Amino acid sequence: MSEEKKTEQSQEELLRKQLFYEQKNGYDRLDTAERLVLEAYCEDYKRYLSASATEREAVREAVLLARQAGFREFLPGAEIAPGDRLYRLNRGKGLMLAVVGRRPLSQGATITAAHIDSPRLDLKPLPLFEDGEMAFFKTHYYGGIKKYQWVTIPMELHGTVALKDGTSVDICIGRDPDDPQFTITDLLIHLASDQMQKKASEAVKGESLNLLVGGVPYAGEGKERVKLAVLSMLFDSYGITEEDLISAELEAVPALGVRDVGLDRSFIGGYGHDDRVCAYAELRAILELETPETTAVCVLADKEEIGSVGATGMRSYAFDCFMEDLCEPQGTPLRRCFENSLCVSADVCNAFDPLYPEVSEKRNNARANYGIGICKYTGARGKSGANDADAETLGKLRAILDGAGVVWQMAELGKVDQGGGGTVAQFMAERNISTVDAGVPVLSMHAPWEVVAKLDCYMTGKAIRAVYERS
Ligand code: MN
Ligand code: MN
Repeated sequence: MSEEKKTEQSQEELLRKQLFYEQKNGYDRLDTAERLVLEAYCEDYKRYLSASATEREAVREAVLLARQAGFREFLPGAEIAPGDRLYRLNRGKGLMLAVVGRRPLSQGATITAAHIDSPRLDLKPLPLFEDGEMAFFKTHYYGGIKKYQWVTIPMELHGTVALKDGTSVDICIGRDPDDPQFTITDLLIHLASDQMQKKASEAVKGESLNLLVGGVPYAGEGKERVKLAVLSMLFDSYGITEEDLISAELEAVPALGVRDVGLDRSFIGGYGHDDRVCAYAELRAILELETPETTAVCVLADKEEIGSVGATGMRSYAFDCFMEDLCEPQGTPLRRCFENSLCVSADVCNAFDPLYPEVSEKRNNARANYGIGICKYTGARGKSGANDADAETLGKLRAILDGAGVVWQMAELGKVDQGGGGTVAQFMAERNISTVDAGVPVLSMHAPWEVVAKLDCYMTGKAIRAVYERS
């Protein structure tokens, strides 16, 4: 090869390096020291996820960690000063935290918002019935599920029963190794020839998602003796009657544990990564934050899986109320703070799944181990229901993440006409807050046992921290 030709080739290489957008697997960008930090981060996340099977537990656990990190409850009317570490509960099912910054709130806040509710099976208000001398709890599923995934797996029951005297009884059955667990039965394959012909959405009906809870009849000769025996056990253990179940929130969740996945242990399997993996990233970042320039706010919201509705969802005025209480001592109108704020809506996206490549457009779909997935828009069809972040906000975010050495990638929820989804982003944007979606890519999203890559969990934590620390 002539010298001239060699120079030409290297020039082409240089130009390629300069102009092409090349992505690298996150592990090719990680040094040994950071690899250890990553592993430690994920062990802590696994502990948080294990302790947080419901939105109430996720909040309880977060408050515990926050108090250890010097956060105190923020009461309306209280004065604030830079460095103050504050939190406010929303009905035990949502949580907002803030670290007050050096700049006034009139210059905006840095907000990150994740949700802590996950798809599950809620008990109906009158759940208990007996049939075939077996007792069952009827359920009503919460959030988007493939019903066939929720039968024949072990389940736990978590929640609370509110009594008429104003007290509550917390219930958690199936977590302790000595506890019994529950399950929903499915038809044996030998008799399933009709069922197997049905569409996947109809093979298991919503009304057959009934948990098996008992089989021994109460001694005597009356009717519904198995149901009576179950009620008698509930009364002995918790002092509750069938009527008390009306004012209860009891959630059946998968009893599948949190485990490393893969020979290289590079993935984590668990229930509720969506969206506790991003909730943890936010929580950890704000708990470790020193006094920032801009006030940092972390929102852990409930009810995202059913449209962010209700008093504990992101559409609730509870968030505005918290922010207004922060602004008031500084004489800042809330609207001024919002219009100058930046929000990262931290929610999971789908990871490209090589087993189902046909639903994704490879160039724009997030991949496992390529870092936090930034989603310019979610929505369905023509971006319907999307926040669709503006170019300037994305530009700002790119600068922040690159400045902090975060491994990140762009994420789009599948092919254009394939389906879609939403997050809390649109409800932040409605408040006149510049908002962008970003989060951990997930495999088997909304299944009883979802899978995430450790590298992406860690990079999401690192990204949120960088956002909070922006100048
Ligand atoms: Mn989500
Ligand atoms: Mn979801």
